[in-house]
Amino acid sequence: MKEFLSEQAIRDRVREMAAEISKDYSDHAPIFVGILNGSFIFMADLLRELTVDSEVDFLKVSSYDGTESSGTVHLLKDISAEITGRDIIIVEDIIDSGLTINFIVRRLKESDPSSVAVATLLFKKEVAQLNFDPDYIGFTIPPDFVVGYGLDHNQKMRNLRNICVLDQEDIAA
Ligand code: 5GP
Ligand code: MG
Repeated sequence: MKEFLSEQAIRDRVREMAAEISKDYSDHAPIFVGILNGSFIFMADLLRELTVDSEVDFLKVSSYDGTESSGTVHLLKDISAEITGRDIIIVEDIIDSGLTINFIVRRLKESDPSSVAVATLLFKKEVAQLNFDPDYIGFTIPPDFVVGYGLDHNQKMRNLRNICVLDQEDIAA
């Protein structure tokens, strides 16, 4: 396991993203919709760096089994906020194939929010198949399997303060 992004690098970038979002939403408090479980640490840090009012909600989906996407997205927990006519910012830990975020954007748009933006800490641009561009991207990364800062391997390692790349032996273990 190798460090890929240090705690400091993550902190600096999250602060920049929060500044950008604060500027864009200075006159209309958005609802941040965090995608569980992976986004909880990013969400907490991002929100604490904001200088604008905000609300939070969470949504839980599942498509992963170990390190492989199962190919279908299941909604495990829906949001409870009323989002019609509101500005939504979806907060993701990572966009890989794009399957999850495409599903969530489509799903939230069914409730007629006034806008939907996507903030993702990590973006595997080379492999993602999206029909839109993410609005706020922390880091564009190669298609390796990463853990830490909320991201897990079989539910473990979310508590790492940095982000590491798992190599094949770690994944098999
Ligand atoms: P996608 O649907 O874009 O392929 O995958 C999105 C979800 O898969 C992410 O929200 C995350 O939970 C999980 N995922 C994708 N790539 C990685 C990775 O490199 N590491 C970890 N821990 N989870 C990942
Ligand atoms: Mg996730």
